[in-house]
Amino acid sequence: MNWFQRVRYRSRRIAKEEAVTGLWTKCLGCETMLPKNELKDNLFVCTVCGYHHRIPARQWIKLLLDPNTFEEHDVRMISCDPLEFVDEKPYKIRLDESRAKAQERDAVITGYGDIDGRKIAISIMNFEFMGGSMGSVVGEKIARLTENATRDRRHLVIVATSGGARMQEGILSLMQMAKTVGAISKHKDSGLLSISILTDPTTGGTTASFATATNLIIAEPGALIAFAGPRVIEQTIRQKLPQGFQRSEFLLGHGQLDMVVKRNEMRKTLIRIFKFVD
Ligand SMILES: [Zn+2]
Repeated sequence: MNWFQRVRYRSRRIAKEEAVTGLWTKCLGCETMLPKNELKDNLFVCTVCGYHHRIPARQWIKLLLDPNTFEEHDVRMISCDPLEFVDEKPYKIRLDESRAKAQERDAVITGYGDIDGRKIAISIMNFEFMGGSMGSVVGEKIARLTENATRDRRHLVIVATSGGARMQEGILSLMQMAKTVGAISKHKDSGLLSISILTDPTTGGTTASFATATNLIIAEPGALIAFAGPRVIEQTIRQKLPQGFQRSEFLLGHGQLDMVVKRNEMRKTLIRIFKFVD
């Protein structure tokens, strides 16, 4: 029995993403046509409006860490399917397809690396893998990394992007919230620093657990950061939400974030923060 019926739905955003052709690409923020090379050289930030396009997890390694210092952990860990879950298609098939598409085994990469010579632990989520959803592998890898960082006296950096908990793993997915927050809490208690970098979008169970449980919470400009999304809230409370609701700048103004930092300044900012604590 299928749990859900197929609903044909194509968002305007996906249609725009498909408009990318040849040497030029359309900015998802201002719809200006930009040379692909120029966009890539500018770390996929629009040179006209400053829109921060999503980048794959491995690009964050190059962006933040010293060259050739990343040592990946738990490379072979993969999700199994204890619930034998089927929505539009079996979860096992969905996992296989996601692995082929994202060229990763699950939605997070974890490991050790250096930032300006300082030895840190880092986890980076990947939206290309099932919308960065937090299943048992994501939770386990982040919890292990955090526990190892506590043992080895390393500060922790988490780059988050996620649609929330992975519904195909049901309660096993939700259990990761408590597990990761518990590990981060012990890391904090041992006097080490943890920093989250929230990128567009960070939502649901990820926002409600490890991504906002760190000492410092930084976000990229314009990122959607939410538990329930704005459309769900509007339909529930039957009110129009204010301009920019749940975007980084709005959340900074309401005390939910510590900083909003542009992508090209992120590494410099981390280096500056680490200098305060060491
Ligand atoms: Zn733009």
